[in-house]
Amino acid sequence: MVTVTFKQVWGYANAHVPCNTCGRLSKRRIREYCTVNPFNKNEDGSVRNYSEVAAQARKLAIDEAERQVAAGRTCRVCEAKELSARNGGLGA
Ligand SMILES: [Zn+2]
Repeated sequence: MVTVTFKQVWGYANAHVPCNTCGRLSKRRIREYCTVNPFNKNEDGSVRNYSEVAAQARKLAIDEAERQVAAGRTCRVCEAKELSARNGGLGA
C-alpha cells in the first residue's frame, strides 16, 4: 500500500478567551494546518503554493481564534465552583 502524505503547513493565532462567568481572560494558542496538495486550489484553479497555503492555514487559525473568543469559556476557578456547587459544596 502506498501512503501519500502531503506537506502540512501550520498557521498560528493567539486567542484571549474570556470566561463567561467572571470575565477572566485566558490565553490560548490556536494551531490549524492545511496541506499543499494538487486539490488545494485557488479561486482561479491554480494549485496553491506553499505561501498561499500558509496564508490559508493562518486564516483558519484566526477564524478559529475568533470563534473561541466569541463563544467564551468557563475558567478553571469558575469550573471548580460550579462543580462544588453541583456536589452540594463537597470537594471544594
Ligand atoms: Zn471564571
